Amino acid sequence: MALFLPEFDLQRFNTLAVPARARFYVAVSNAQEIREALTFAEQHQLPILALGGGSNVVFSGDYPGLVVHIKLRGIVPLDEDDASVWVRVAAGENWHEFVQHCLMMGCYGLENLSLIPGSVGAAPIQNIGAYGVELKDRMVELSAIDIRSGLSVTFTAEGCDFSYRDSVFKRSARDRYIITSVTFKLDRHANVVLDYPSLQQRLNTSGPTTGTITPEQVASAVISVRQEKLPDPAEIPNAGSFFKNPIIDAAQYALLRQRFSDLVAYPQANGRVKLAAGWLIDHAGWRGYRDGEVAVNAKQALVITNPGRGTGAQVLALADKITRSVQQRYGVDLEIEPRVYPSR
Ligand code: FAD
Ligand code: NAP
Repeated sequence: MALFLPEFDLQRFNTLAVPARARFYVAVSNAQEIREALTFAEQHQLPILALGGGSNVVFSGDYPGLVVHIKLRGIVPLDEDDASVWVRVAAGENWHEFVQHCLMMGCYGLENLSLIPGSVGAAPIQNIGAYGVELKDRMVELSAIDIRSGLSVTFTAEGCDFSYRDSVFKRSARDRYIITSVTFKLDRHANVVLDYPSLQQRLNTSGPTTGTITPEQVASAVISVRQEKLPDPAEIPNAGSFFKNPIIDAAQYALLRQRFSDLVAYPQANGRVKLAAGWLIDHAGWRGYRDGEVAVNAKQALVITNPGRGTGAQVLALADKITRSVQQRYGVDLEIEPRVYPSR
């Protein structure tokens, strides 16, 4: 039976380690407990926040509702043929452990997404991505419970309307569903993705050729690059990249390029251009900046850290300063990547 805890401290349940309390908290391990949570929230007229690893949230203050901590576990192989394996994974499984499990089972396609913190159930929310691979490349469907009706629903990958670090769950279906499991189609035969120069360098390859490089080697390379470059939230609290890479039109890019010849940018399939937000922030002078309890990481300017255990409001105030400075210098709007609760 689900246990509802009042005035619950969330500081150790968000990787930014900001202090915040939930009006109520409940950990759920199965669909029955989720339904009990929905009933409790309805009776007490509370909004619901589904929480996984807390690695992509900023608590701007106390959460005036019910935090439902997703603890559903289980990895179930569904089907296989000569080329593929279908596997259903419960939402509370740890993402990185699932990726490692796939490699051990000889199932490939997620290795570039190694070491991303958080849960499997949160992965579709922003269509997690790294080193040229996104969740949408491998997800078949997901199961969820509709918070409004209590009904079980299935979303195909198409129905999730995935795009760059985005999905329907950040837009029209925002905070409406509790995802209970995600189904993936993985490869039996390796087809590694080596588009990113940082991976090529680590693996000593000269270009995006697959050669003899194995998915296990790709995973090791991803893990070692990430460990070198990104602060470990267990040591220096952070929520990963704080801003999405802005995607601008070609005309704006051409003008910017005239002013900043070393601007880091990547053309997109639709003729638009993705700018590296980390480069913009770094070259606006923010890398390593300390603002009281909060700071901009010295190795990766895209990461805001919370070494002094400041509040979510302090983190967001620093993010606002960065956003304004980038807008002034480049005329480019930055969008915050983590979800803010309560929303501003
Ligand atoms: P949470 O922070 O708990 O929740 C995030 C959002 O998902 C919230 O809106 C929450 O309500 C919702 N949610 C969580 N679980 C469920 C559920 N079961 N049902 C419905 N909604 C749910 N992201 C990337 O894309 N690529 C990266 O390479 C990457 N690297 C990172 C590195 C570091 C060091 C850190 C700290 C973060 C990084 N992230 C990255 C961001 C983060 O890890 C991912 O977004 C991850 O998917 C968040 O998982 P979580 O379980 O911690 O989600
Ligand atoms: P990086 O490899 O130094 O690259 C810098 C930026 O350039 C990244 O933002 C990346 O965009 C882009 N990029 C590099 N090579 C590219 C290519 N061949 N095609 C298109 N875009 C390219 O980046 P990093 O900071 O070390 O991060 C490595 C990967 O991990 C990136 O994919 C990044 O998104 C991911 N990551 C995400 C988070 C998060 O919290 N969201 C945190 C850490 C790392 P993309 O970001 O669009 O890939």
